Amino acid sequence: MVNDVKGTLTVEKEQNTQYDAILREQKALIAEKRKRRKRKKQLVNMITICLILLFACIWVIAFISTKDKGVSSEGGGENFGNTIIPDDVLEINELSPYRDIPYYKEENEERYNAYAEINPQMTKEDVVWRVNAHQDKDKYEYDVEVSGYDDPTIIVNKYYKVPEGYKPPDLQQFDGQYLRKDTGEAYKKMRDDARREGYRIRVVSGYRTVEYQKNLYNRYLATDTKENVDRYSARPGYSEHHTGMAMDIFGSRDGLREFEATPEYEWVKNNCYKYGFIIRYLKETEDITGYEAEPWHLRYVGVEVSTDMKEKGINSFEEYHAKYLE
Ligand SMILES: [Zn+2]
Repeated sequence: MVNDVKGTLTVEKEQNTQYDAILREQKALIAEKRKRRKRKKQLVNMITICLILLFACIWVIAFISTKDKGVSSEGGGENFGNTIIPDDVLEINELSPYRDIPYYKEENEERYNAYAEINPQMTKEDVVWRVNAHQDKDKYEYDVEVSGYDDPTIIVNKYYKVPEGYKPPDLQQFDGQYLRKDTGEAYKKMRDDARREGYRIRVVSGYRTVEYQKNLYNRYLATDTKENVDRYSARPGYSEHHTGMAMDIFGSRDGLREFEATPEYEWVKNNCYKYGFIIRYLKETEDITGYEAEPWHLRYVGVEVSTDMKEKGINSFEEYHAKYLE
């Protein structure tokens, strides 16, 4: 009996132990399942967040690009069908308002636009040649050494200078002043023809060295402001007199300032083009040349150019040069 009871207890004990083991196993399984479910849930959450972020990004990009199109359209872009071409593209393509002008230079496009903006009354043609002649820059701001000195259409002004020590090769004396051979011979013909008609002219200043101009300019500076001096005297290197193709003349009365009041001035004004000369600095071109009018200062450019300038009614060499010689 006792043995029976003992046996029963042992069996029960064993059964309990097995049962505990099963229970532990089940618990472990449940815990594992929970863990897996939790991980799955976390993964789903992460994917949802990522998708939300992705949609947000797409929306922001779409919004910005719509806004950009709106701005360029307001800023003057042109609408071709449904395609809006922004201004910066228009500026450099064939739709440029300056493109039809013969001396248009694509590389100056931005400068044309900027210059036109501060000169709204100016014609497109004027904008183009003036910018080509660097008129949109301050005088002496764009300074480049000229080359091709044997060409009578060489330009020397407040943007183009001759190199230090430059000396023309064929200087000869006329009225005691040095001029290049062609210039001097043209002058001589003009002077002799004038004389035959009763007008007396003579050269009082021809070729000047850069050194000479330096002294002259500094002498003016000693008694006047730089701003004033720049209006009536060239800085060294920038004077046309360096080329040997420019000259100052007197009429029947001595004095440069007196020249305009002499009958010789009228004759020279009407006839100098026949000999290849132009009166270089006029009252109406002061803003272009940067100099006050100098009725006494003649420049040799050759008969072809001086005649063409007269026929076309162009009164500054800067304009003619920018339009027809560049
Ligand atoms: Zn002069």
